[in-house]
Amino acid sequence: MQLGAIFAAIEKIGCLTFTTLDTASGPPQIHSRIAHFLAGDDEGLYFMTMAVKPFYRQLVDSKKLSVCGIYPSGRKTGKDRNGMPLFEPGFTLRITGDVRELAFETVQAKADAGNAGMQFALYDMARYPAIRIFCLHCGKGEIYDYDFEKDHRHHKLLRTRFAFGGERFNRSGVRISDACTSCGRCVETCTFDAIAPGEPYQVISERCDECGNCILSCPENAICESKTI
Ligand code: SF4
Ligand code: SF4
Repeated sequence: MQLGAIFAAIEKIGCLTFTTLDTASGPPQIHSRIAHFLAGDDEGLYFMTMAVKPFYRQLVDSKKLSVCGIYPSGRKTGKDRNGMPLFEPGFTLRITGDVRELAFETVQAKADAGNAGMQFALYDMARYPAIRIFCLHCGKGEIYDYDFEKDHRHHKLLRTRFAFGGERFNRSGVRISDACTSCGRCVETCTFDAIAPGEPYQVISERCDECGNCILSCPENAICESKTI
């Protein structure tokens, strides 16, 4: 997945949760706030803050950022046939990576090249001189596209993992080892249609919710837990 497509998904969400690490005020703490990205191009994803804010200091000190968001709102729209919360089909997005502050000249050059987000940044910097622009230049993440009632397809999930700026990611989902005897019990417990028969059976990683039902049902202990992104 290219950065352009990732930025398009971010634009669809609007505001996201931005989480940083604070190491300057005693024991390390994580902090979250709502913010948004200004722009995206081949070099990364751009956002702003003010040089006088703790957010700025945390970015400069740790150079780390994690973001997540949901489209549409994530509001529960009722209950399903099992009494569980019902959500409209949509997707969540998350990215964890490294940031760097942009020099003013870089912002200017991108604006001059026609980047509308950077043009807005320049306009706002004239009004608020403390504004600083950061680039999430390296990261990995996932779009978790859900349709729990199978309104638009025959399986609930379609997970797409991605990386940029030299980062790498692990594929989603649990793993089935060669210890599998093809007994079929795991398929019966998977409500995500994420296991395909075979010798051994296979997990369709894009559909797996990592719920663990299959791990608990396997008589051969042939199913391994997933790895983080
Ligand atoms: S339950 Fe275990 S042994 Fe049986 S098919 Fe699934 S992975 Fe293979
Ligand atoms: S972890 Fe859950 S979703 Fe994934 S294959 Fe196993 S039962 Fe299905």
